Amino acid sequence: MRVAIFSAEKYERKLLDERNASHGHELVYVDALLAASTASAAVGFPVVSVFVNDIVDRDVLKRLAAGGTQLVATRSTGFNHIDVEAATELGVKVVRVTEYSPNSVAEFAVGLLLALNRKIPRAYNRTREGNFELDGLMGFDLFGRTVAVIGTGRIGTVFARIMAGFGCNVIGFDARRSPEFEKIGGRYVGVDEMAEADVISLHCPLTPETHHIVNARSLAGMKRGTLLINTSRGGLVDTEAAIEALKSGQLGGMALDVYEQEASLFFKDLSSTVIPDDVIQRLVSFPNVILTGHQAFFTREALTTILQTTLASISDFAAGRPLANEIVVGLANT
Ligand code: NAD
Repeated sequence: MRVAIFSAEKYERKLLDERNASHGHELVYVDALLAASTASAAVGFPVVSVFVNDIVDRDVLKRLAAGGTQLVATRSTGFNHIDVEAATELGVKVVRVTEYSPNSVAEFAVGLLLALNRKIPRAYNRTREGNFELDGLMGFDLFGRTVAVIGTGRIGTVFARIMAGFGCNVIGFDARRSPEFEKIGGRYVGVDEMAEADVISLHCPLTPETHHIVNARSLAGMKRGTLLINTSRGGLVDTEAAIEALKSGQLGGMALDVYEQEASLFFKDLSSTVIPDDVIQRLVSFPNVILTGHQAFFTREALTTILQTTLASISDFAAGRPLANEIVVGLANT
């Protein structure tokens, strides 16, 4: 099959080419984000592969369908960037990577929490300059603290298990109960009880319902000084409201691997340019904010599974076999 691959980084291309040896697809890499202005690059390709910041809305899908595309394969679990309803109407099938190492994201979220609480990036920068002072580096013991997990699915449950291992009291918020979460001692609570949390970690998908789930109102209801970790999707947090809460001290610190406006910034080296986004510039100016560029998934195990699953789905499609990872209208976004 001829496959137009958008937004693939160098490390992905190498692995894709290696793994494709046993599939034999014709992989063509497009050096651009997929959008209405770049969709013409996919004309004549029955399969298009995308990543989280590609735009796969109705307009783009119409252009893809007109160019002969029949399958969109996203190299992610989340599919908030794809208008699945429009794809179905246009006869374009959509597949994703249903599951890959939830440990990759959960472990990174724990790493962000430790780095934020114990100020490890600040300490690292200090010692490189010969400054061995401890002033300003005090954190708190996680043992005995309350950690709230919003979304106790695959990643949230692994995160909860690790935090339970630290001796934390783990509470969860999710309409769908996970027996695994309860087995490790997690306790489901209502929104009001979130105020008990010293740490809140977001692991739910971005949907119209969860958009800005962290907003001025919910921030005001948190315990003063709470640490917020977001490795899920940028749109879950109203960034400007979070900035106000950081300024007032209501929010004790924030670690983000995802950012609402990341599409024009992430996965690029912009170190020699003036970044026009004032919100992100304000964010990185806080001593109690850590920002990483959507790397929580980025382990060898996760990437290998992502690419293997994507190629296998394309091979199934080419052979007319059922698509185990197809996204159908009405499927909860994860
Ligand atoms: P999952 O489907 O296993 O779990 C998501 C959970 O969120 C489900 O239990 C669901 O019921 C719950 N949920 C849905 N709406 C909710 C709401 N309003 N409030 C509370 N809970 C709600 O998904 P997963 O594999 O654990 O992935 C979680 C998210 O992590 C993905 O949606 C994706 O956005 C994000 N993610 C980020 C990265 C990264 O590199 N930063 C990588 C993979 C996934």
